[in-house]
Amino acid sequence: NLSVEDVKRWMHVSNQKIQENKEYLSELDQPIGDGDHGHNLGRGFEEVVKKIEREDYQEIGALMKDVAMTLISKVGGAAGPLYGTAFLKAADEWKGSPTITEELFIQGLEAAVEGLRTRGKADRGEKTLIDVWVPVLDYVQNHDIQPFELKGIAKEGMQSTNGMQAKKGRAAYFREASTSHIDPGAYSSYLLFEALYESVN
Ligand code: ADP
Ligand code: MG
Ligand code: MG
Repeated sequence: NLSVEDVKRWMHVSNQKIQENKEYLSELDQPIGDGDHGHNLGRGFEEVVKKIEREDYQEIGALMKDVAMTLISKVGGAAGPLYGTAFLKAADEWKGSPTITEELFIQGLEAAVEGLRTRGKADRGEKTLIDVWVPVLDYVQNHDIQPFELKGIAKEGMQSTNGMQAKKGRAAYFREASTSHIDPGAYSSYLLFEALYESVN
């Protein structure tokens, strides 16, 4: 089960990881994009931790909604609305709940992935962050959740984008030249799930 404090810690560790990997995430975005992914997210997550530290939350929906709205207003580009939508959809599922049970976590993740698919008009195999979220969802729907496994699945999903030709977003303009690279959004999504693993351990 995840408490308000656990989710706050998840967001703090996410911010740390994004800041530590800011240059790398933007480097990944250079050959197949415009080189701003790490800086976009770095700016957003810095604001997220400021925002959630100022507030006292009784339930997780309100916390997640603040995370989502901050990402939407501060990140920009493709990733801001995508991550914003994912967290907003999860927030709806978690509304009114002071703790997230395994069942509720799965519901939140289902809604988040549905939001990503709709907002991105994308699915698996198109070299986006969805290549991390969908296998993670598959895993939690079909297994007892082991945080370490979840992190491993996210990592495999991230690595699987290296070898895919991009079909969505800026990277799609690079056609075949997009293939031999890791997708930056997939890498940042991996960091978020790695942060989840670290904040529940
Ligand atoms: P921008 O491309 O606007 O500069 P970012 O660099 O912050 O935005 O984010 C790029 C990431 O967004 C990509 O690596 C990819 O994972 C994700 N992305 C872009 N377009 C889509 C889409 N249509 N569906 C899902 N994810 C997408
Ligand atoms: Mg970019
Ligand atoms: Mg950009």
